[in-house]
Amino acid sequence: MMVGSIVLFGPPGAGKGTQAGRIVDLTGKPQVSTGDMLRSAVKAGSPMGMAAKKFMDAGLLVPDEVIIGLIEERLQEDDADSGVLFDGFPRTIPQAESLERIADVTSVISIEVPDDAIVERIVGRRMDPETGEIYHVTFKPAPTEIESRLIQRPDDNEDTVRARLEAYHTQTAPLADWYAERGLLISIDGNASIEEVGSSVEAAVRTND
Ligand code: AMP
Repeated sequence: MMVGSIVLFGPPGAGKGTQAGRIVDLTGKPQVSTGDMLRSAVKAGSPMGMAAKKFMDAGLLVPDEVIIGLIEERLQEDDADSGVLFDGFPRTIPQAESLERIADVTSVISIEVPDDAIVERIVGRRMDPETGEIYHVTFKPAPTEIESRLIQRPDDNEDTVRARLEAYHTQTAPLADWYAERGLLISIDGNASIEEVGSSVEAAVRTND
């Protein structure tokens, strides 16, 4: 029987990926990021990856059946037995309903950031392909010696961000109430420094122990 899992919830650019590392260190639960899984499938050129890429490039959500299939497969791995940290999943009510049937979610940590802060965060975001570490040109500059190898996600441009925000507000945001009704939602202010948000995330994880 799988023990409790945590959901990291919030708009694109809220800092979910950045804060996930801290939760993994604190709890030992593996991070399960549907965005990372989809990007790996795109890179591998699998039929699923090719189909998903069209949605991702347009800033739209990948269909629920695809995502639920990915998650079902991932939760069968041995390291999922002691619960996982979901990052970027669920993103729709049908996804949350499916998740309810296959895992025990014990808390949902929602990182709240207003829309006007998000575009600046996403457009300045860069990733180190060697370590997966996420940087920001202004808020978290990378060391000079690795600057030349940093990459920008293809969907991290202003037009796509607007579409992703729209998808978030219409399809994902209603999940906050859905989880609040179940007594699982812990909201934290994500419009602060990485360290401050990190402390709130840590407090939320400890409260839940
Ligand atoms: P992320 O890295 O979480 O921002 O996800 C990048 C893109 O992958 C999103 O804009 C969606 O196109 C797709 N995606 C990731 N997770 C999900 C999900 N749970 N449901 C639907 N689409 C997703």
